[in-house]
Amino acid sequence: MTFPSFSLSHEQFPKLGTHQLIAKTTESTRNLCKSTLCLFLALAAPFVAYRGYQSFTMYRSSSSPYSPQTDAESLRRQRISSSKLHTPDVSSKAPVIYSSYYDISFLGIEKLHPFDSSKWGRICQFLISEGYLEKSSIVEPLEASNEDLLVVHTEAYLNSLKNSVNVAKITEVPPVALLPNWLVQMKVLYPLRRQVGGTVLAAKFAKERGWAINVGGGFHHCSGGRGGGFCAYADISLCIHFAFVRSNISRVMIIDLDAHQGNGHEMDFGNDERVYILDMYNPGIYPFDMTARNYINQKVEVVTGTTTGEYLKKLDKALAVARNSFAPELIIYNAGTDILDGDPLGGLKVSPDGVVQRDEKVFRFARERNIPIVMVTSGGYMKTSARVIANSIINLSEKGLLDTSVRSGKR
Ligand SMILES: [Zn+2]
Repeated sequence: MTFPSFSLSHEQFPKLGTHQLIAKTTESTRNLCKSTLCLFLALAAPFVAYRGYQSFTMYRSSSSPYSPQTDAESLRRQRISSSKLHTPDVSSKAPVIYSSYYDISFLGIEKLHPFDSSKWGRICQFLISEGYLEKSSIVEPLEASNEDLLVVHTEAYLNSLKNSVNVAKITEVPPVALLPNWLVQMKVLYPLRRQVGGTVLAAKFAKERGWAINVGGGFHHCSGGRGGGFCAYADISLCIHFAFVRSNISRVMIIDLDAHQGNGHEMDFGNDERVYILDMYNPGIYPFDMTARNYINQKVEVVTGTTTGEYLKKLDKALAVARNSFAPELIIYNAGTDILDGDPLGGLKVSPDGVVQRDEKVFRFARERNIPIVMVTSGGYMKTSARVIANSIINLSEKGLLDTSVRSGKR
């Protein structure tokens, strides 16, 4: 591109009359303007293009479907879609999920926590020996992989579990801090990751068969970024995210009847309108999480010393409110048995028969309205818990609220 000259030479000057001079000057001025404009456009074009690109990227990050939040969501969906946790074939099995890997046993250190870490295996033994379940019909889940766990957990949180001191704090077993981490991974965290796989798989089962029980799981104190209270992984949150993507579920109700407040899933789904949380808990015990309490849709507090009759009356009322408040496509039932009278942590005085009635009420709530239900066993810290849970599953079977289809007729 060439620019027209706008100067008059001394030689040209005397040859021009006044009008000609003015005309020539005007023309030169016009040329000057044109030239300046062209120069400006030439110089400004890259700048304008750059600012335009900046605005476009800002627009993308703030409001378009390509925002970082959407990128995170699409990564989450990708992880869920490529996960193997839903692959075990469940078609010829009972919707009861358990693996002998669930049970934590290592040099007796598990006995340092009041939690009965062989509870899960003993529940199955009762059901099998009494003819309500065949060993071969139990579904064995896969271990939740690191990619699976990242569906909910932050990388920083998962990395923190590579330090045995942190795992000791979360599991509340101080000697774990002294063990090499590879041993902690193998003996403590691996069993828990298997249980997480069980809860995730249970949602698939429940959608197909109407109900499913993971004879483990229910780590309701763990959220995506923080563990505690023996809960190292957020199995309930993971299960729900998997159900959203893999089972085409869009509305989930959590019914958390463990004696403790379920602060983990509350932190994870606090602002998520797809999830309704009914939590019935003793406010005088761990975790005293006031922030998470704000996220409970229906909060029912049962104080220390609450007895069976009072507990069940409050539950009836709560279920009636839930029925009129939200229409779920899946129910996650956190059925902790630490509400039992005598439990060292729960502080409540519900009888074994009260627990059986409680579970029946929740299953009726779901089954009579054809809402798939996933039950996880969560807390329960007495040796008698396993017997009570087995009795409850037998009662549900007797009442026609579930069917393991393998009853041999003997009790
Ligand atoms: Zn509990």
